[in-house]
Amino acid sequence: MTRLVSIDGVLFTPEEAKVSVYDRGFLYGDSVFETIRTYGGEPFALEEHLARLERSAARIAITLPISRDELGREMIAALRAAVAAGRAAAGGADAAAGPAAGPTAAAAAPGESYLRVMLTRGSGPLGLDPTLAGAPLRVILVEPLKPLPGELYRNGISVITARTQRAGDAAPGAKVSNYLESLLALRDARAAGAHEALILDPSGHVVEGTTSNVFLVERRPPAHEGAADPGQVLITPPREAGILVGITRAHVIDVARERNLPVCCEPVTMARLLAAEEVFITSSLREIVPVVRVDAHAIGSGVPGPTTRALHAAFRDKVGLGGAPLPWESP
Ligand code: PLP
Repeated sequence: MTRLVSIDGVLFTPEEAKVSVYDRGFLYGDSVFETIRTYGGEPFALEEHLARLERSAARIAITLPISRDELGREMIAALRAAVAAGRAAAGGADAAAGPAAGPTAAAAAPGESYLRVMLTRGSGPLGLDPTLAGAPLRVILVEPLKPLPGELYRNGISVITARTQRAGDAAPGAKVSNYLESLLALRDARAAGAHEALILDPSGHVVEGTTSNVFLVERRPPAHEGAADPGQVLITPPREAGILVGITRAHVIDVARERNLPVCCEPVTMARLLAAEEVFITSSLREIVPVVRVDAHAIGSGVPGPTTRALHAAFRDKVGLGGAPLPWESP
C-alpha cells in the first residue's frame, strides 16, 4: 500500500496534503482523533471508533461535519485508494522487472494499514474563542501498519510510572489531540529504556498508559484457610479513573469473560500493580503487550505470563487471525 491523505473527502499524496496554519488543531490542539487498524484489509471495530470520535467531538462541542456513516465510507474509500495505489506501484515495479515477476508480487500482497482520522474545530482568526472557528476540518491519514517487533511480545516490556495531570483532563474520556503530558511521560520512559509510561493520577492511582489501557491478572485470596484456590481475576481501572475507554480494552474484557475469567473494573494502587501475577497493556495498534517490569520492580516471575498469552491468542481468534503466527512467534 501507499501512504495517502484525505482532507474533507479529497485525496492527496502525503507531500501534497496541506492544512492551514490557522487551523485550531494546529493552534490550540482543538481537535479529536481516532486510530484504527485493519485486519485482512478491513478496518477493525470501525463503528466503535466512529462512535467514540463522535462522543469525543461532542465532549468539546464539535459537531461532525458529515454523518458517522459518511465518514466511515470516506475512510474506507481512502483505504481502498491507498491499497490500489500501492498495487499499481508494485505492478509498475513488476512490469519493469519483467512478466515473471507478477505472481511473486501478488504473493507478497500489501500488509495491513492503519488510519488516523482527525477532526478539528476548523480555521479562523487568532483567538481562543471557539466561535471564531469556521467549519470543522476532517483529515484521514492512511499508513502502512508496522507491527511491534516480536521480541516485545516474547520478552515483555518495561514501563515507568509518571505522576502527571493530563491535558485531556479538561474533557475526561474524550480522545482530544493534545497529548503533551503523555508525550513528555513517554519521553521519560524512552530515556529510561522503557517502552511505555503508566500515568498515575494525583492520588497515586494507576490510570492507563500514554496510549494504552492497563490490565492486571491477580489471584483472588482463598475464602478461608484450606479453601480451594479461587483462581485468577482480571483487573482494569474503571472509566471513572479518567481513562480513555479503549476499544481493545472492551474486546479484551469480552474475551476474558468468554473464557470464564472474571473481570473487575477497580481502582489500581501502585502496591496492587506491583503485586499482580501478570500485567499487560492494550491498544488498537499493539493489541496486548505483556509488562514484565514496572520502574525497578519485576512483575510476577519477570516473563510474560500464561494468562496474558491465552487472552492474546483468544483476541487474535476474535479478529480473524486464528491459525496465523502469534506476535511472540514473529521475528
Ligand atoms: N488510552 C489512551 C490515552 C490512548 O491514547 C489509547 C489509544 O491511543 C488507548 C488508551 C487505547 O485505546 P484503543 O484500544 O481504543 O486503541
